[in-house]
Amino acid sequence: MARPPLFRRATVTRIVKETADARTFVLAPDDGPLPYRAGQFATFRVRVNGKDLLRSYSMSSAPETDDELMTTVKRVPGGAVSNWLHDNVAEGDELEMTLPTGRFCLRPAEVPLLGFCGGSGITPVLSLVKSALATTDRRVRLLCADRDKASMIFDRALSDLVERHPDRLTVVRHLDDRGGFLDADGVRAFVGADTDGDAYVCGPEPFMALVESALPGPGQVFGERFGGGPPKRAAVTVPAEGTVTIHLGGKTATVPKRENETLLESARRAGLYPPFNCEAGNCATCMGRLTEGKVTMRVNDALTDDEVEEGYVLTCQSVPETPSVTVVYE
Ligand SMILES: Cc1cc2nc3c(=O)[nH]c(=O)nc-3n(C[C@H](O)[C@H](O)[C@H](O)COP(=O)(O)OP(=O)(O)OC[C@H]3O[C@@H](n4cnc5c(N)ncnc54)[C@H](O)[C@@H]3O)c2cc1C
Repeated sequence: MARPPLFRRATVTRIVKETADARTFVLAPDDGPLPYRAGQFATFRVRVNGKDLLRSYSMSSAPETDDELMTTVKRVPGGAVSNWLHDNVAEGDELEMTLPTGRFCLRPAEVPLLGFCGGSGITPVLSLVKSALATTDRRVRLLCADRDKASMIFDRALSDLVERHPDRLTVVRHLDDRGGFLDADGVRAFVGADTDGDAYVCGPEPFMALVESALPGPGQVFGERFGGGPPKRAAVTVPAEGTVTIHLGGKTATVPKRENETLLESARRAGLYPPFNCEAGNCATCMGRLTEGKVTMRVNDALTDDEVEEGYVLTCQSVPETPSVTVVYE
């Protein structure tokens, strides 16, 4: 099935200043509403100092509760795109974005939803919370860690949701300026008796590592990593001989296969410049479609099962399993 163009244009209809360094961009896609699920992200292409840069940003809106599509961006000190978006984008401007995608989504379940958010990690979790409150009877409990009170994104929105759902939603705040970082005891104390809950974790890498290692289980854990996560490598056996063929932007290149080399690495070795961003399997910027052969994806935290079924792969994580592999960057 032909996939629609990767990037589409969307007008920024409103910009909401959430905190000193976080803004919500309200987006009206030119082609009409985009299908998405709560918790998903889109990849944006912006031109900064003459270079096209790609970065992913999660939706803070939820399709079941918001008429508008929204993403919330926090400035990263020294960061190229987050600062560019804050400093250059005005209401009425257009941005280029992909269709939302990602696996940080609700599963059909009745167990409590436990959200663990560090800083801007609240963005996809707010989307999940709104969706869960609107479409299920699940209890929802959030543990939000921030540097200080002034850094709390969506404080008002969360208080409003608590007021509307006092029996189902609770928000616990952890502020670093009142006694240091969250620790494992804090995580376990928050989980309490809800050990069977689905944990949704999003925040800076040290925060995610702490929460993931402290969770007592047996509940399921879902993580959304904003940067390169810890490498999760599956053992891959590769035939010694073979080729990798890459189609990108009207060019075709074929290189001999190298053991344990990803399709993205093969493409670069072939002299091509495919799009990429996190190189950790989190963002889908490097996705391509396999037209020949099979690969193993070391990590897939971005493509949906339907996309995988259609042959899409994260080229930064795909290692060939068959002698010949052909991938098309669409
Ligand atoms: C699936 C996903 C969803 C995401 N959702 C969100 C979201 O909802 N909201 C949000 O705010 N972010 C989100 N992110 C993170 C976002 O994509 C960007 O990574 C983030 O905004 C930083 O991008 P940047 O261009 O501003 O920084 P970059 O330019 O990528 O820089 C990042 C850091 O590296 C440092 N750096 C850059 N170049 C160098 C160098 N040459 N030497 C040393 N240090 C350097 C910078 O100082 C900065 O600290 C998400 C990421 C993913 C993968």
